[in-house]
Order: sequence, then structure tokens, then C-alpha cells
Amino acid sequence: MSQLYERVALIGLGLIASSLFWAMRRDGLAGEVVGYARSSETRETAREIGLCDRIYDTAVEAVEGADLVILCVPVGAMDSVAREIAPALKQGATVTDVGSVKRAIVDAVAPHIPEGVHFVPSHPLAGTEHSGPRSGFAELFEDRWFLIVPVEGNNANAVDRIETLWQAMGSKTARMDADHHDLVLAVTSHAPHLIAYTMVGVADDLSRVTDSEVINYSAAGFRDFTRIAASDPTMWRDVFLNNKDATLEILGRFTEELFALQRAIRTEDGDMLHDYFTRTRAIRRGIVEAGQDTDAPNFGRSKS
Ligand code: NAP
Repeated sequence: MSQLYERVALIGLGLIASSLFWAMRRDGLAGEVVGYARSSETRETAREIGLCDRIYDTAVEAVEGADLVILCVPVGAMDSVAREIAPALKQGATVTDVGSVKRAIVDAVAPHIPEGVHFVPSHPLAGTEHSGPRSGFAELFEDRWFLIVPVEGNNANAVDRIETLWQAMGSKTARMDADHHDLVLAVTSHAPHLIAYTMVGVADDLSRVTDSEVINYSAAGFRDFTRIAASDPTMWRDVFLNNKDATLEILGRFTEELFALQRAIRTEDGDMLHDYFTRTRAIRRGIVEAGQDTDAPNFGRSKS
């Protein structure tokens, strides 16, 4: 794939930004990729590992002359970052973000975007529990969805071009309205993360089971909760505070289902439990068939 943007600026240099850089570098998708991070420590690490062609000490310097600016900071920081860079954005440039929530970001960022600059929000459904500039890798987006959330009045060429960029990195793309995005993600990502955090918290509080028992015998399901619950606390605090309504709606439904299952266990309603688990097993098969996970035993781990 040939070069799609002459100069790309990454604002925030963590897992997602560093993965974007390595993917763009591998595939020659940008002439030059520059970056900015808030702390001098992250900027130093970025320089040390060759992340970006140049690292700037201010966000304003980084975005000057950029054709594409990608905001890769936590959801709660998007507003202040957009306000800061707005006066320095080049006419005709595109600004996108990779935040895990969309309505709150559209509402916070769009008002700062000057006339003549295109704001095309995005969200890669790809990640790991690691964060920071050293955690990125070029393959992160391969075969994963990159959702694009066009806003009113978006320039069609700007949207098409950003879609081409995500596809060139190996992602599948879809376009979605911001509110619908937030509801879908509440089901598929945000509520499950909260449940994982809760389950790990419960195990931590349970004094009759020792810490070493939890650690040693975690392979039977709990280990996958702990991986999710190791995700970045700042990122996830911001996700819940900024996708409040959809997450609370899904958690309300979750609680109702949990009560129904609790009742089935108490009343020994084996048919209900069996039917329920048959239905959920079919959902798992659908995910594997869609290529979104492996059907290898134990998620492809060599031993438990
Ligand atoms: P990360 O590895 O923790 O990196 C975050 C970056 O943002 C760091 O460079 C950090 O700077 C900077 N930052 C933090 N707070 C800031 C603030 N208040 N002002 C300016 N910069 C700030 O995070 P990430 O996982 O790449 O996530 C970045 C974005 O992608 C988030 O919006 C997240 O919702 C979204 N996302 C994440 C995942 C995932 O699985 N991780 C998946 C999809 C989308 P310092 O290093 O200097 O502190």
C-alpha cells in the first residue's frame, strides 16, 4: 500500500499510538510520523526505542503541518488536548481519535475543531492489558474491527481516506452512529470489564480463600478475569464515567439475568440452567466462526 498521508501526528504515546506507528511504518502508509506525550519520561522512552520520526515537547508543535492528527489519550483528556491543539491545526487536515467511547468525545472535541478541518472519530476494537510506549506492536489491528463514527457535515473524502488507512493496517471497518457505538460497546466490552473487575475484587475480599489458592487454582476461568482486570485504571475509569447511561442499562439487564440464574440454582431448575448455557455456547461458537477468537482448547494456551 502506498503513502496515504504526508505527515501524521500522534498525540499520546501509549499502546494504541505505538501500535499505529509500527503499523504505519511497516506498511509505508505515512511520509513522516511525529509524536507528543505529556510526560518527559514517555517522550524519552519514545526517543530511545525509535518510536516516531520526531518527538516534540508540546502537542502544538507536533500537530503543526500535519495532514492527520490522531488523539491517543484517555477519553477524559480528549477535551483539553483538542482545545490546546485547535489553533495550530492545518487547513484541510483530518483529526481522528481512538477513544473507547464516542458520544462524549464527539460532544467534547467537535466544538474545538476549526472550520476547514475534518473531525472523523474512530475506535479500534483491539487492545491488550498492557499500556505505555513500549507495549505497541504492528499486528495489533490485524483482523480486528476499526469502527468509524462520522459526524454531521463530515467531508466524504476525509472519511474514505481514514477508512483506507485502517484497512491498510489489516483492520475490518464499519461505520456507526456515536450513540449506537456506545450501546454496542457497553455490551461487548464495558460491562464485561466491570464484571471482571468485580469478580477479582470479590476474590480479594474473600478471607476464607487464601491469596495463594486464588493464584494457584485460577486456570478454571478466574485467570481470564484477572487479565481483563489488569487493564489500565485511568483508561477504564474514563470509559465508565463517559459511557454511563449505556453501561448502567446493560448492568441493569445483567443483574436481572443474574437473579434469574440465582433463582434457578436455588430452586434446582436444571432445565433452565441447561437451556441458558446452550444459548450462550452458541454465542461463543458464533464468535469463533467470525474469526474473532480461536477455537483451540484453553484459548490456544499450551498448558493450563
Ligand atoms: P496508554 O498506553 O495508557 O497511553 C496513554 C497516553 O496518553 C500516554 O502517552 C499518556 O501520557 C497520555 N495521557 C494520559 N493522560 C493524559 C492527559 N491528561 N493529557 C495528555 N495526555 C495524557 O493508553 P492506550 O491504551 O494507548 O489508550 C489510548 C486511547 O485508546 C484511550 O482513549 C483508550 O480508550 C483507547 N483504546 C484503548 C484500547 C486498549 O485496549 N488499551 C483499545 C481501544 C481503544 P504519559 O505516558 O506521558 O502519561
